[in-house]
Amino acid sequence: MVSSPTTLQVILGAPVVREKKVTALPKDGLDDLIRSIIFNTQQLNEPFYVLDLGVVASLVDKWTRSLPTVRPFYAVKCNPDPALLGVMEALGASFDCASRAEIETILSLGVSPSRIIYANPCKPESHIKYAASVGVNLTTFDSLEEIQKIQKHHPNCDLLIRIKAPDDGNARCPLGPKYGALPEEVEPLLQAVKASGLAVAGVSFHIGSGATNSNAYRSAIAAAKSVFDAASRLDMPRMHVLNIGGGFTAGPEFDDAANAVNSAVYEYFKNEPGLTLIAEPGRFFAETAFTLATNIFGKRVRGEVREYWINDGVYGSMNCILYDHATVMATPFACSSNGGDPTCDGAKTYCSTVFGPTCDALDTVLRDYQLPELQVNDWLVFPNMGAYTAAAGSSFNGFNTAAIGTHLAYSKLSSLV
Ligand code: PLP
Repeated sequence: MVSSPTTLQVILGAPVVREKKVTALPKDGLDDLIRSIIFNTQQLNEPFYVLDLGVVASLVDKWTRSLPTVRPFYAVKCNPDPALLGVMEALGASFDCASRAEIETILSLGVSPSRIIYANPCKPESHIKYAASVGVNLTTFDSLEEIQKIQKHHPNCDLLIRIKAPDDGNARCPLGPKYGALPEEVEPLLQAVKASGLAVAGVSFHIGSGATNSNAYRSAIAAAKSVFDAASRLDMPRMHVLNIGGGFTAGPEFDDAANAVNSAVYEYFKNEPGLTLIAEPGRFFAETAFTLATNIFGKRVRGEVREYWINDGVYGSMNCILYDHATVMATPFACSSNGGDPTCDGAKTYCSTVFGPTCDALDTVLRDYQLPELQVNDWLVFPNMGAYTAAAGSSFNGFNTAAIGTHLAYSKLSSLV
């Protein structure tokens, strides 16, 4: 366990994670661990994350069992926490980077550039030049202008054409409105690549992050096959890469998604020998592995309503409420009150509002939420906080998200795995 008063991250099972002997903590074990951190190391009552590497290892196993032919490129943007990246590297994952800085981060772990896809369809020229200089030779595109930039700055780069496949209409974050070539744009783009002398290795799509409708994978894979066919008609070198993007979650719906992918790949690509299948999962690996503990530092009673202030909010980790359309859930840990049972099981509950720390009223984490009577210096614990949380936090009002979940653990992890 590694800790400091202001930055704290707990690595569980690091020594054995590569051998995959580590298992996720049971709920009681996680609660006990959080309790011991609060009592033993939290003199300043700073918010902190617990990262359970056992969860990550079990998800890597689950992926490998359910999608054995699909090579995962972990989407760094989802959570670039160094310990998470370190364990993904140790477990053999590749990486999806969206920018120069993300590529630098992954290369600094000693990862070969061949394990990186630069999966941003619209890239600044300076970042393309950097990718060329370090040998990251696979990227996506969906416009003529992007082809021209890549031809000029990185002519050895293999391309995947990002198509606008039908989104999962219920996805938490649809990506179709921003990216992907329309069906009628595909052939002109392929012709432009052919004329430029670049190589299109295959097709990529993303059905939307936090997808729930597994049929969207089937439709997108069918659409990708029609692009492979178009390339053949245009006498282009045979395409050989299918990138099925992200969208996966770690819940029970993952099995449906995996079945849909496997059956659609078989149906549409069984006659494409040598196909390389890749994906860019972020949320699947990160979301359930992180638990966030926040300290209550303010309280107001208004009749039967209770209002609390905690030291992380929508300008920090809970930006996921705004940007990722997340609904967060909190469980109380009452260390200063309720002397007996810190979980407050069975205690009377009140309609409660939970505010973040900044002076903006928008900074509201929970409304009309049932909580027991809590006091200043009690804690609220938020499970499943690993995806699109700290990654996009700011230091608005001087409350610094970067202070939560830090690099402390990585050097230790890398020496152990
Ligand atoms: N790949 C790309 C290009 C993305 O834009 C995203 C998310 O925005 C991802 C992968 C990760 O998606 P997810 O977290 O749904 O797996």
